[in-house]
Order: sequence, then C-alpha cells, then structure tokens
Amino acid sequence: VSGLVSATSARPEVPLARYVQRLEGVRRLGREQGLDAVLIGPGADLRYLTGYAAPLLERLTILVVPVEDGRPVLIAPRLEELPARACPTAEARVIDVRPWQETEDPIALVGHLVGPAHALAVSDRLWATFVLGLQRAIPGAAFTLASSVMKPLRIVKDEDEIALLRLAAEAADRAVDQIAAGRLLDRTEAQVARDVRGRLIDEGHELAEFAIVGSGPHSASPHHEATDRRIEAGEPIVLDIGGRLGGYGSDITRTIWVTGGDKTRGPDSAFLELYGVLRDAQAAARDAIRPGVACGRLDAVAREIIAAGGFGPHFIHRLGHGIGLEEHEEPYLVAGNDLRLAPGMAFSVEPGIYLEGRYGARIEDIVVCGVDGPTVLNGVTRDLRVVEG
Ligand code: ZN
Ligand code: ZN
Ligand code: ZN
Repeated sequence: VSGLVSATSARPEVPLARYVQRLEGVRRLGREQGLDAVLIGPGADLRYLTGYAAPLLERLTILVVPVEDGRPVLIAPRLEELPARACPTAEARVIDVRPWQETEDPIALVGHLVGPAHALAVSDRLWATFVLGLQRAIPGAAFTLASSVMKPLRIVKDEDEIALLRLAAEAADRAVDQIAAGRLLDRTEAQVARDVRGRLIDEGHELAEFAIVGSGPHSASPHHEATDRRIEAGEPIVLDIGGRLGGYGSDITRTIWVTGGDKTRGPDSAFLELYGVLRDAQAAARDAIRPGVACGRLDAVAREIIAAGGFGPHFIHRLGHGIGLEEHEEPYLVAGNDLRLAPGMAFSVEPGIYLEGRYGARIEDIVVCGVDGPTVLNGVTRDLRVVEG
C-alpha cells in the first residue's frame, strides 16, 4: 500500500473533554433506554467514544460501557495492548484497558464484567460470531443495537468534527483542482485514479479511500471502477474522490469535459442542457438546507428540478448520505426519510444524471446544516470544467 498511506502524523486532535462528553452521552441515553451496558466493537463507534482506531480482527476487541457506574473497560487482545493503551481516553484513565491472553476466553470476560444483565446494546457492526457468543454467555439478556444510543450522538457533529470534515473537504478540493488542471487525454482511468490517490495523500489525507474516474460512456455509471479505458477528446469525466483526514471523510464529485485542444470537441448542446439542469438541482437542494427540513424533502427538491428538465428517470440514486467517521452514515437524504435536519448534521448533496451508453454527470459537495442555512465545505467551482486535458 505504499503511496496510499501518508507518513505525516500532525493532525488536529479531538480534545479529551469531547470523549468524556460522548461517553457521558452513551450513559445518559443508555439509562433513558433502560440498558445495563453498551458493548462497542472495532469501528467508527469505538473511535468516536475512545479515540482508538482498533483493527478488525478475529480476536475480540470490545468496549464495555456500564450505564450506571464503573469506568468503561476496553477488552483487547494482548498483542494489541500497546496501541489500545495509547488512545487518549486510556492514557487519561477515562477508560480501563483489560488485555486478554491467547488462552483466555474474551467472551467470558465480557460476561464477567457485565454480570447478570437483562438489557444490552451491541454496536451495529459487531461480527455475528461475537454477538452469538455473547448471547450464549449472557443468556438472560435481551440484545439490541447500540445505534439507539450512538446514532443520536454521532449524527450531530461537534465543532472538532466539523473542523476535521472541513480540512478533509479542502484537501479534496485541491486534489480535484490539480487533476482538472493536469494531463487527462490518452491516459487510462486507472492511471488518473492512481494520480488522484497520491494527491489526496499529498494534500493531507492519511488514507486515499476511493477514486472514481468514469470517462465517456463510463460517466453514466455512478460507482464506476476505474479501468484501462483511455480518455478521449470530446467526452466527459465524472471524478468522485475521497479519503480520510484525522479519521473524517472527504467525498467530492466534479464533472470535467476534455476537448483535447480541439475546438470542435467541446461539450455538445445536449450535454450542456443536462449539466445546466443538474447544476440547478444541486444548488436548489443546497440552498434548501436548514434545521427542520425533512431529509426526504431535500431529495425531492433536487428530483423535481431534474424531472422538470426531462431527466427524471435518469437520477437513479438518493440525493446524499451523512459523512463523518464513516464514508456513508446517517442521515440519508432519500425519499421517505422523515428525519428532520438539525444544526451540525453533515452530509453529501450529490444529484446525478446518467444516460446509459452515452454519458452522465454528477456534482457532489459536503454540507453541514447550520443554525439558519447550509455551510458548504467544498469550495471548488461547480461549473462544468472544459479542459484541453
Ligand atoms: Zn457514491
Ligand atoms: Zn462521492
Ligand atoms: Zn458521496
């Protein structure tokens, strides 16, 4: 993976007080919901609560948060003890670390810690093999999903999280600018995608996560995987790229048109019309963002404009997804979602129009819902970029 992971380590840090606050939030919500304990396996939930980015292993790592009293305990395999102890909450003794040896049974350890519980919540992404083991070890308990406590906490970003999302967005903006200004013609999608990953890292991401480069007819496939197809003059490229910075995701899409320096190979009038409708739809959805608006309504704002432009059947996915420690998380901007926006929610606004076999376009920004309107984190132009390539 050389070239995909950055060597720089100077990242803004989430202050300890935030973690303390989040753990208190788990307890408060857990108490309200009548839970005895909340059990959190590796993943975004664990990182959110402790600062520990635990590896996903067949050996169990799990944070046990008792709802009433007692410090949370991070059960971790012995060979992961050092990184576990180095996370900010363990270092500050906000949580205890309990390493388990190869011959110990970590599931039984959880059982001992939890005692005779009757209501436990487990993180949504905990593997079935562990959940079933826990159910056997603690037979009297009802198991529910910890998203009941984690979702209300994680869906509203605090200032530290918004600062990281902003840094990630700005880094992705710079990468898009560089790609649009660089060589495209006659290069393969895969070569451009590799270039994208390098630039995401150079601009400050610790991880380059995805680089969709959909050229020509491939631009009509929303999640196209970069191939060995060579980029030609007279076609669009949908560039959808993102990574992680300080754990937080970037995700931006811009559409570029490559002329190859040939004036006759500019965007045709049909594409310009499509793009104009798309631009209007994306702008209207962005402008409609404010507290109290239902997620499904935002999707409708964009969809109505695209339908009025005659492209209704060609907008084949939801308007957007939440973003934070996960690339896709709550809230989802999709028809039927009555969830109302609240200040601090962060999500993508990414309508697309796809004409199969021909071409397509998408515009995507990350936006935070502010107290009285949108805060758009991406700043790079949303105009169709017509470049020589
Ligand atoms: Zn996507
Ligand atoms: Zn995207
Ligand atoms: Zn997205």
